[in-house]
Order: sequence, then C-alpha cells, then structure tokens
Amino acid sequence: MLINFNDTLKNALDKKYAVAHFNIMNLEWAKSILEVANEMNTAVILALTDVVSKYFGGYKVARDMVYDLVEALDIKVPITMHLDHGSYEGCKKCIECGFTSIMFDGSKLPIEENIKKTSELVKLAHEKNMSVEAEVGSIGGVEDGVAGLGEIARVEDCVKLTETGIDALACGIGNIHGKYPSNWQGLSFDTLKNIRETLPNMPLVLHGGSGIPEDQIKKAISLGINKINVNTELHLAFSEGVRKYIEEGKDKIDKGYDIRSLSEYGINNLKSIVRSKIALFSA
Ligand code: 13P
Repeated sequence: MLINFNDTLKNALDKKYAVAHFNIMNLEWAKSILEVANEMNTAVILALTDVVSKYFGGYKVARDMVYDLVEALDIKVPITMHLDHGSYEGCKKCIECGFTSIMFDGSKLPIEENIKKTSELVKLAHEKNMSVEAEVGSIGGVEDGVAGLGEIARVEDCVKLTETGIDALACGIGNIHGKYPSNWQGLSFDTLKNIRETLPNMPLVLHGGSGIPEDQIKKAISLGINKINVNTELHLAFSEGVRKYIEEGKDKIDKGYDIRSLSEYGINNLKSIVRSKIALFSA
C-alpha cells in the first residue's frame, strides 16, 4: 500500500518512536528494503533525490518501479514514495507523476522565499493527498566545507515554516550528511528540546542518520524525532559486501561474474543495516 506519511508519522509522534526513511539507488535496493519492511511488519519511507531520479531515467520511472514492486512482492505494510531534498521544479514533477510525498529543500534560500515556495507546494501537494516535508537550518555536509558542526535551526524559523501547513519539519540540530568528521560535536539536544516544546504536534525529521552513535539516536527519539533518514550507511554496507566478494575471488569462479551473484553480499549487508535501523528507531 502506497500512502503519504501522515498516519505513520502521527503514530510515531504519539508513541515516541521514529519511522525509517531509506534512500534508494536502484531496483535491488528498493526491493531489499521493501522485503525487510514486510518481514518486520513496519512502515517505511523510500526516497530519492532529483539527481538520483535522473539516474533512474526520470521521476516516473522510479515511481512506477516502486509501485510495481509493492504490488508484485505483495507488500502489506504502508510504504511512502518520497522525494528527498527536492528542488521546486522537482517537487512539481513528483506531484504530477504520483509520488505520495515530497520534501522541498528551501533551506539555502532566504527564509521568506523558503516560506513562499513551501506554501505553494503544500497547496499543490495537499490537493493530491500528498505529504510535505520542508527544511530550515540546512543540514551540514563535509562536501559543503562545513567541518565539525552541522547547522542549527532557529526556533522562530521553524515556527514560521510550520505555519505553511507542512506535515513534517526537517530541522538542523548539528546533523550532517555523509560520514561524520572526527571533530563532530554531536547533536544539539538543547535545540531539539526547544523546537519540540515550541511545536509539540509537528513531526520532526533527523537527516544525516548514518553514523550517529546509538545513544544519540535514542536520545533524539526520546526528545521528539519521528523520522530518520539513512543513505550513506547503505552505500558503505553495499560496497563493503561487493569488495569482500571480489577479494575472495568469487567473481572468477564459474559464473561468479554474474551481476546477481556479484551483488549478493552487498545486498545481504544492506538488508542487515535496514533491519538494524528499523529495530533501533522503533525500540
Ligand atoms: P546520510 O547519507 O548521512 O545517511 O543522510 C541521509 C539523508 O539525510 C537523506 O536525506
């Protein structure tokens, strides 16, 4: 069943756990994540960015692939098909082609422009029963030259963005995409507490979910995080598996070069990360 994330996140907000958001890169990743979600009887969010949609061949290719997999694999749990860090144009395309959820990332824009564009997209998306996530206090990343500390959202900006009618808020609390640098100072729990107290009914999203120590994840959930995004750890797990397969020389034995065999260790590793994240986030 493909739906927006509203009921799922509302449940997470009421019961104080977090829903897992996993980025998908291809059919194998999407299939693996869906299978694990079904096996664990848990709703998950499958997401991809504008750039990855292009890699797929277009938003609709990715959207149709996920819809077809959900049907063919007889997936019984709620699945959300979500655009991650969408541009304004990307969001519009996903609204048109039938995603069930979008994230508009206007965090690099002046706050007034972020609000204006978010409001427009909320209106369009809600007409199609889609959920909308928006962001303030952009998430840091080593590639952006932000070493050590992710950006911290201002509470007043969080309130303003929430007034646009969004369904979930991604707020920078010192989190960073990609691998965390060794001098990272950890999540800012004071910021999170403050945002949660000010906005008690708004589902809050933690980006950069890879590599955050378990105790910080648990604390973030206890303080009100309801959705956690994971991408980098899936890449690391997958590539480590493929490397092991090749280092063991398996690709040189019989038909070990077959892409399905070549991917097998990677897929198994990826699945075990997905299992462990779902278990951690819903504990
Ligand atoms: P990581 O790549 O750090 O897991 O972050 C994922 C993310 O936040 C996607 O929006």
